[in-house]
Amino acid sequence: MLTYFADILLPLPLPATFTYRVPYELDAQIKTGIRVVVPFGKNKLYAGLVMAVHTNAPPFLHVKYVVDIIDAEPIVTEKQLALWKWMAHYYLCYTGEVMAAAMPSGLKLAGETLIMLHPNFDGDISTLTERELKIAEALTYRQRMTVAEVQKTVDIQKIFPIIKSLVEKKVILTTEEIKNPYYAKKETCIFLHDTYLNDEPALFELLDKLSASKKTEKQSQLLLAFLMLKRNEDRVKKSELLKKSGGSPSSLQTLINNNILVQKEVQSSRLQEVSSMKDISDIYLSKIQQKSFLQIKELFLQYSVVLLHGITGSGKTEIYMKMIDEVLAQGKQVLYLLPEIALTSQIVSRLQKYFGNRVGVYHSRFNEFERVEIWNRVLQHSTNNEQKYSLILGARSSLLLPYQNLGLIIVDEEHDGSYKQQDPAPRYHARDAAVVLGKLHNAPVLLGTATPSLESYYNVKQGKYGLVELFERYAESQLPEIWIENIPEARRQKKMEGHLSHFLIDNMAAALERKEQIILFQNRRGYAVRLYCNACQTMPTCIHCDVTLTYHKKSNLLKCHYCGYAIATPARCPHCESMDVEMKGFGTEKIEETLLQLFPEAKIARMDLDTTRSKTAYQKIISDFEKQRTNILVGTQMVTKGLDFDRVSVVGILEADNMLSFPDFRAFERAFQVMAQVSGRAGRKELPGKVIIQSYQPWHPALKYVIGNDFKAMYENQMEERKKFRYPPVFRLIKITLKHNNLESVNAAASELALVLQKRFPKQVLGPEFPLIGRLQNQFLKDIWIKFSKDAALEKKKETLQQVITQFQMHSKFKQVRVVVNVDC
Ligand code: ADP
Ligand code: ZN
Ligand code: ZN
Repeated sequence: MLTYFADILLPLPLPATFTYRVPYELDAQIKTGIRVVVPFGKNKLYAGLVMAVHTNAPPFLHVKYVVDIIDAEPIVTEKQLALWKWMAHYYLCYTGEVMAAAMPSGLKLAGETLIMLHPNFDGDISTLTERELKIAEALTYRQRMTVAEVQKTVDIQKIFPIIKSLVEKKVILTTEEIKNPYYAKKETCIFLHDTYLNDEPALFELLDKLSASKKTEKQSQLLLAFLMLKRNEDRVKKSELLKKSGGSPSSLQTLINNNILVQKEVQSSRLQEVSSMKDISDIYLSKIQQKSFLQIKELFLQYSVVLLHGITGSGKTEIYMKMIDEVLAQGKQVLYLLPEIALTSQIVSRLQKYFGNRVGVYHSRFNEFERVEIWNRVLQHSTNNEQKYSLILGARSSLLLPYQNLGLIIVDEEHDGSYKQQDPAPRYHARDAAVVLGKLHNAPVLLGTATPSLESYYNVKQGKYGLVELFERYAESQLPEIWIENIPEARRQKKMEGHLSHFLIDNMAAALERKEQIILFQNRRGYAVRLYCNACQTMPTCIHCDVTLTYHKKSNLLKCHYCGYAIATPARCPHCESMDVEMKGFGTEKIEETLLQLFPEAKIARMDLDTTRSKTAYQKIISDFEKQRTNILVGTQMVTKGLDFDRVSVVGILEADNMLSFPDFRAFERAFQVMAQVSGRAGRKELPGKVIIQSYQPWHPALKYVIGNDFKAMYENQMEERKKFRYPPVFRLIKITLKHNNLESVNAAASELALVLQKRFPKQVLGPEFPLIGRLQNQFLKDIWIKFSKDAALEKKKETLQQVITQFQMHSKFKQVRVVVNVDC
């Protein structure tokens, strides 16, 4: 009898897979791509992925056994694993980290570490002890927690026996139930009783009878409502029926008792079902759009990647939809990537209108159940399952799903910086990973934007990507006029009201008069940026981070935007006790206040991180503005992302300068992108638009390019600098950050590592130096930068770099110092 072994990938930052022995009774079921339960570390159980099954016994004695099998069929695909491995290799991290990022926790369950309330727990707490109740309560606030988290929250030392008891009482789920952590949601639905199913006359007779008597009138109304809500279906959700009919549960119960209606529990999908409403042939591309569409297809014969450089409002989305339609018709899948924040109901419903319930949406605001469901439906693409998804609309992490056969990948707003994951590993760039995923599936990749990243445009210039230009807005809508307001000058002439110039205010007033809408963009949230002491010239700072605290008026708090630390706003300077303190700078909240004074009649909405914390708040602000329930929208970066509003005629950019002065080699490029994108919100459809940019440096070249809408000049200008100072996209930039809560340790470790690196890579290493914020959440930070030229030796150099870092961590006296590697940062 052969003895089998399985190589298991665990969702942990570990360099390799681990080999386990397969017990004979599982021989028939073990296969690659399924999950198994394995012990790892001190008595911990994990769900790991089988990467290989073989008969080569490992060269050590105590091989642990696979405990159990979770899946009958593979839950990952080969191409998916290939992308994971590429990511680990390219971004210098571990495949286990990619796995951890890719899998919804509903799938990767870390053995006994995760617990949740049992979905069938009926809420009966009479049998629970006080401690058990505490844990159950903690779990109602957060859907799932690790044992350690629960322990911390409820502050109980010996928690394991209590957890065990809760499992026995079926109040919670833990590893014992690891096999089926995913429960399909059940819904109570109301059906017509069989008697009346095919007997309309009897049904109408019954209705007449019920409505004739005062006593049963309510029942007749409820029954009628049921018939209307049911339409062509056989059922209506109970909750929906009661809500929409206004009927009482007791009337419903009577109808059920009298065998007129039937109540049943039905498995339901957690995801909204929509049926296709419009046909793609309803979209008529304009002549120039059609030309671009054909160009793209032609270029795909030559290039695997095409950049669609189309100005705002040119109708890129319509072109995408035509492309998608063709690929879906071939029975292939399409991935449509968007930056998280641009993934609004606006774009979702636009696509669902044409592609109906073939569209799956995937982003981080979804809960685990929904994510597991999407995973499964993407995986089922090759089956006949009617619930499969063919078009996935998703943020960054949707790249990591189990696609079967992609036929097209669209990366919309490809310039967007949020495509790069910063923390934790894998620190990947979704656009670049999309190109790799496309290659794996032999699927073309379409990058679309009004303001290409220098990276993508450089690839075009290098002959790597095809380029299609679309420089006309749809339906003769014009690009907006752009005005620059010289703020120091306006101040001198006393033509300012708070932080708004008279010119901007006058234009806003005129727009409001014409019932048009306004967007104001300010790159900072909060009320005033900081509390400033005139006596000692300091500002209150965070105790955990090297940042000044930001004043929030509504809560009257000074908050740290990095770690959440907050204090009540002091009346005196915390340093010198002076009362001579004042607010300096201005944020979104402050502008909102000024506007309320200037335009008391107008409805104003503010969109920033503070106002969009809840799942629905962001959608609500957008849809209110869309439906013209609000007149003025004040916001941060969030207002720049691909939104399409018809009635915006004035856009104000209030402080163009703080984007330009940010100490980052991409500051100029980013400022240009943001300003061009915000400007693009103005004057869509028939309405001409006006953009007013307030600046302290009105002569700044970035503004010049924005006014001229001159991407190419901006590109040439910036590429000069990038070449000269050896930055991307000409060079490959890798950042190594060292972190520790002790300043001396960080300093010493960084110096030593930099020295080693300089020896290995002469003239390619910069630093170590403190980043802009040298301490975050009590961790001191120090950066080392490496600039590799993009030549044949690059791969080799990256491997060497990885080795140097691993050795440094293993052997140095700085084992406690964390080393974070960020490729293409
Ligand atoms: P972009 O994404 O390039 O900024 P959009 O795709 O949002 O542009 O298009 C701008 C507006 O013009 C949208 O309201 C869109 O519905 C409309 N539009 C563009 N092309 C067409 C078309 N061919 N038919 C109908 N409407 C179109
Ligand atoms: Zn002071
Ligand atoms: Zn802080």
